[in-house]
Amino acid sequence: MTKNIMKNEKDLLEEMKIRLNSVSSSMCLAKWLQVSLHLTNGKTHSCYHPPAHSIDLNEISKNPSALHNTSQKIKERAMMLKGERPQGCSYCWKIEDSKNPYSDRHYRSAEPWAREKFSDVLEKKLEKDVIPSYIEVNFNQSCQFKCSYCSPHLSTTWADEIKEYGPYPTLTPHNDIAVLKEMELWPIPINQSNPYRTAFWKWWPDIYPQLKVFRMTGGEPLIDLNTYRVLNYIKSHPNSNLELAITTNLCPPKKMMNRFQKELKTILKEKKIFRFMLFPSIDTWTKQAEYIRFGLNIHEFEKNVLLLLKEIPEILISFIITVNALSPFSLKKLLEKILEWQKIANTLGTWHRRIFFDLPYLRSPAWQAIDVLPQDLTLSYFFDCLNFMNQNKYNKNLSYGFSDFQINKMTRLIDVTKNSKLSCEQKKINCINFYRFFSEHDKRRKTDFTETFPELHDFWTNCKKLSQNHQDL
Ligand code: SF4
Repeated sequence: MTKNIMKNEKDLLEEMKIRLNSVSSSMCLAKWLQVSLHLTNGKTHSCYHPPAHSIDLNEISKNPSALHNTSQKIKERAMMLKGERPQGCSYCWKIEDSKNPYSDRHYRSAEPWAREKFSDVLEKKLEKDVIPSYIEVNFNQSCQFKCSYCSPHLSTTWADEIKEYGPYPTLTPHNDIAVLKEMELWPIPINQSNPYRTAFWKWWPDIYPQLKVFRMTGGEPLIDLNTYRVLNYIKSHPNSNLELAITTNLCPPKKMMNRFQKELKTILKEKKIFRFMLFPSIDTWTKQAEYIRFGLNIHEFEKNVLLLLKEIPEILISFIITVNALSPFSLKKLLEKILEWQKIANTLGTWHRRIFFDLPYLRSPAWQAIDVLPQDLTLSYFFDCLNFMNQNKYNKNLSYGFSDFQINKMTRLIDVTKNSKLSCEQKKINCINFYRFFSEHDKRRKTDFTETFPELHDFWTNCKKLSQNHQDL
């Protein structure tokens, strides 16, 4: 079965590669059909690899489709039609130049939301009214969490802390609002009118019928009224092709949780959309998870997972586990929980499998990435997780367990840990920043790093020494 799936996937990819090459060697359907919109600060990009660029306010006042069809993207589309490589897509060019047969350009173009629209794209070519079939949107930066690796431009709670205490005293001050403003990342304040959001809602009735995937991120979408505006719209405008998705911290105030559950339940029960996927973020388990994602209550989180599984049999849940330097020690406990939830979910739901997860790893800020830790220590925890996953492989008859894809992701984490190429100097800088950030974190947020992470006692002492020595220079 798995072999067949892989063969079909490969066939699809190869077929798409030939079709793309028949246009040009740099053609990519995502440049036309996929968009990430940051309505908070007026930025856009096609897929999320190229750096986001600014949306032209003058253009969207005349035509809201310029939220996606910016002059920059149209130039890049023209380059792709001629076989030239837009610089912003270097993520794909690097992979292709390293002789890898397929980059994201092929993977994304082969996905159903893109490949079904190939001929439409060729018809439109450089027209300015292309309607994307895959949209990811950040409406609002309101969030009641301030996760350690997040930033004040993405969370109002983080912004409040920085306004009160200033940036963190790392070697280069961290999360400095002045710097975020210089980088044009600072969002329009929530209480002010936002022309990007206005343009989006003007555009929405035109794009909605053609949407295949619509994903809301934030901020925290479950506390954002724009999310409920979307849910209400869906109720009166069913779209049987639509996959709706929401990224969430899954700990909203009870009132909002009830509202979300009630509205989603109606939508799915009445089959208003094709399917719904919830993406709760959780990076490990125990009080260590609560330390990383400040604002999280794991009991509340678990209660909400179980409530949604029980009350909405059609819901699919995929956890986003962003593995960072504080994740390894309780990661196995989270995997145990996921297995437990899978067993419960399969007795309650309408889909054969309802619980999934992904294991991306954190790259920024560098001092919170896994390679700041002593390699042997990290690897011992990761191997423990891998063994646990291998002992509990997906079992088709029981329909729970860890898939080959998930086990490969764990193996990739081990490879990334083994292959870290940080210089001694960079490691030292990361250790100093690690100590300075989390010791300040403890002071501001009344947390206790050494009590929460006893596994890091020696590492912490070493980081502290490096930081003090650096100060004495
Ligand atoms: S070429 Fe790669 S980076 Fe550029 S839009 Fe396509 S998938 Fe994204």
